[in-house]
Amino acid sequence: MPSNASGRSDKDAAPPLPEPLRVPVADSHTHLDMQSGTVDEALAKAASVGVTTVVQVGCDLAGSRWAAETAAAHDAVHATVALHPNEAPRIVHGDPDGWSRQGARQAGGDAALDDALAEIDRLAALPQVRGVGETGLDYFRTGPEGKEAQERSFRAHIEIAKRHGKTLVIHDRDAHADVLRVLKEAGAPERTVFHCYSGDAEMAEVCARAGYYMSFAGNVTFKNAQNLRDALAVAPAELVLVETDAPFLTPVPYRGRPNAPYLVPVTVRAMADVRGVDEDTLATALAANTARAFGY
Ligand SMILES: [Zn+2]
Ligand SMILES: [Zn+2]
Repeated sequence: MPSNASGRSDKDAAPPLPEPLRVPVADSHTHLDMQSGTVDEALAKAASVGVTTVVQVGCDLAGSRWAAETAAAHDAVHATVALHPNEAPRIVHGDPDGWSRQGARQAGGDAALDDALAEIDRLAALPQVRGVGETGLDYFRTGPEGKEAQERSFRAHIEIAKRHGKTLVIHDRDAHADVLRVLKEAGAPERTVFHCYSGDAEMAEVCARAGYYMSFAGNVTFKNAQNLRDALAVAPAELVLVETDAPFLTPVPYRGRPNAPYLVPVTVRAMADVRGVDEDTLATALAANTARAFGY
């Protein structure tokens, strides 16, 4: 396999800069703290192709603090703060080997979750923190033993978002019905975003009726993701967002290589094709929608 100058194979190399968007948009969900290079480099590279704003998403306490600090230091960055749905059961049950399987509930585990949620609550009050998330349910990585802690954490995040008037950012993996149920039971905040929207067209209609934003990531370009394209095709224009979820979910033709906000134009162009609109029309809507969704 050919190697680049740093000795890494091409499949690890950063994809090239896409042609710039004429109408600037936001990356509605990214994890700059998990990407290589500095924040300034990532923002400059993104801005050079018309991605002028990013929403930096926290997944644990350290990441949420970092998101808030980074948003305070950069006008182009807005923050969201949360314990990821896979983080909450880890706090309650302990999980030295990662997120996959939790053991028995730890002594003091519930109190530890409450302490962590209190810190999220404190961070959520900051002005540069525009949202609470990513929170929700993940039945892919968390087994049945972690469900209770996960739902308790999700409900607490919904309450925090509503009390502070912040946007709720949902992570829903293999848990569509329960996520919709909890939102309905608890009462969704005024602005709710399904990040990395993963439902089908039928669920998109449910989200549309509820006024939930649907944010599409690079996986909408994947060959096996016709269900996502069907959902995107029926989603109301005023509820559609675009995101990278970088460093994950790099769009085709760069699937498997590192993702970053500067690759948003690749996904925007694929989305415009699916919706049968021109790139500028879609970008104009995406920019307005993201600003409205996060209240900036
Ligand atoms: Zn997620
Ligand atoms: Zn994410």
